[in-house]
Amino acid sequence: MAFSELELVWNHVCRIVLSDNVLMTVLIVPVLFMAERFWSARRVSADHYCFGLSFFAVNSVVLGILAPTINYWTAIGVQAFGYGLIDLRSFGLNGLTGSFVALFVSTFVLDFFYYWFHRVLHSNRILWQTHLLHHSDENMNMLTAQRGHIFEGLMAPFFITFPMAVLFQLPAIEIAILALLPQAYHFVSHANIRLSYGPLWWLIISPDYHRIHHSIEPKHRDKNFTNWFPIWDILFGTLYRPKPCERPVTGVNGTSVKSLWQAYKLPVCGWRRMLKSVDLRVPRPATQSGRLERMGHAIDVAPITRNGMNASLSDGNN
Ligand SMILES: [Zn+2]
Ligand SMILES: [Zn+2]
Repeated sequence: MAFSELELVWNHVCRIVLSDNVLMTVLIVPVLFMAERFWSARRVSADHYCFGLSFFAVNSVVLGILAPTINYWTAIGVQAFGYGLIDLRSFGLNGLTGSFVALFVSTFVLDFFYYWFHRVLHSNRILWQTHLLHHSDENMNMLTAQRGHIFEGLMAPFFITFPMAVLFQLPAIEIAILALLPQAYHFVSHANIRLSYGPLWWLIISPDYHRIHHSIEPKHRDKNFTNWFPIWDILFGTLYRPKPCERPVTGVNGTSVKSLWQAYKLPVCGWRRMLKSVDLRVPRPATQSGRLERMGHAIDVAPITRNGMNASLSDGNN
């Protein structure tokens, strides 16, 4: 390998190791770790933290390697539809205040796109398999924020980055901050700490608020989808306002992930189960009822729920 090629590989490794994602984790995790020690909502073992950290490390490297390809195709898509239809700076929003207003507005809109992406992940049985890993954490803590399957990460640019880039023209600094702040707040909202914002609960989600979304209890199913602003849950009817001290157990019935290998193969196992449950038997021939059988029964997929088991769709969703 020539020296210049080695240099390229080294630069790429540095970009991964020093990515915003990793830097933010290094800055915020120690602070939240102390908070989780002293104000923990539920007990989390040291082993569980180790698993969370190892998953985060491996995921960062894999996503870092895939990032150039993801960015390339996102850019191609954005170019095809036009770039930055709304320039927030053209409203006279300049300087630091302008940057913050632009940042707030774009985060607000980003949250709207995220809300619907998140709802699709929960309502579509095929896509749910990619989101299952995030929900399978029985001991939710700050590192759950990073417990997302790579397949889910690959879909996010299409649902979120792409519409954002088409809609807004943002200076580089805002885009850089945008990449950091959501990440940082993810750690806070997943933190295993007893924290609600009292009368200001509607302003931004708290750890108590997001815990409901991860709850194992049926009454919390498909609630609190938003990433930052509860207004989207309020508007679209998915709000569950946690009662004081309501901090349910988290996880998904029947799904327990104990190793990196299990984590990565989780969606594939789910899809395989779905395929196996498709009835491929050739139906009885050419009568009217035979045709109906082919149209209905033969393509019927036994419902596979978020707990990954064959069961009624209404069971086990969280
Ligand atoms: Zn979810
Ligand atoms: Zn979450």
